[in-house]
Amino acid sequence: MAEWKNYEELRPDQLESLIDKSPVAFWPLGLLEHHGWHLPIGFDGIKAHRTCQRIAARTGGLIIPTMWWGGGGGHDVFKWSHYQSPEAITAILDTTARQLLDFGVRALVLMAGHYPWQSFLDQIVPTLRSDYPNHLILAGTEVSICGDAVALKGDHAAKEETSLGLALFPEFVELEALKAGHHDDVWPPEGPPSEDKRHPSVNFDPAHPLFAQMGEDAREASAEHGEAGLAAVIEHLAQTIEAFTSRETD
Ligand SMILES: [Zn+2]
Repeated sequence: MAEWKNYEELRPDQLESLIDKSPVAFWPLGLLEHHGWHLPIGFDGIKAHRTCQRIAARTGGLIIPTMWWGGGGGHDVFKWSHYQSPEAITAILDTTARQLLDFGVRALVLMAGHYPWQSFLDQIVPTLRSDYPNHLILAGTEVSICGDAVALKGDHAAKEETSLGLALFPEFVELEALKAGHHDDVWPPEGPPSEDKRHPSVNFDPAHPLFAQMGEDAREASAEHGEAGLAAVIEHLAQTIEAFTSRETD
């Protein structure tokens, strides 16, 4: 097992010595957002964080505190979702990524758990890569970060995400909650969205077991299904990072 640590828990000398051994940093990019009756609102960030931990167990490195403040995707019409402005999101993303690279990180993994992070990454990562041409910058969601090497399907709180949750953090997933008859205090103060603001693939009926989800039926989710996709992502990213860091130390 390689050594990995949480960034915020280390003293300056410990940071230097860990970065000397494993110059890798993982930044989970999450969001607080309604994820159906059965998943925690921090689902995307917890998913990204646990995935980063699994890769870091292979490669070593630092795990940066999860970025909870994101946005995009249209689920802010549900109570308990927090969306920030695109300007705020991209400013924090860009500034922090550059600071980490300037401090000595050689390989930076921007691991997004919320799919609309992709548009923010697309805005900053190409320039980042051209400004740091000798660094490795891996960026994307679990669906996109491996490019064509791994084909995963994404959804919102439905079969795919629920399966990933069951594989990564079953303690926070409650499949029993996928039943009818929940309370209907589900809208922010402005009330439910008008018909024209409702994504046609999202379930807007609070009485339905699959409320707020988008995708295949979450009741068909399984840890095995989640683990199969996840293992491929972790293997691909760990190999990519190991190939880069071993080339650097040759
Ligand atoms: Zn999600």
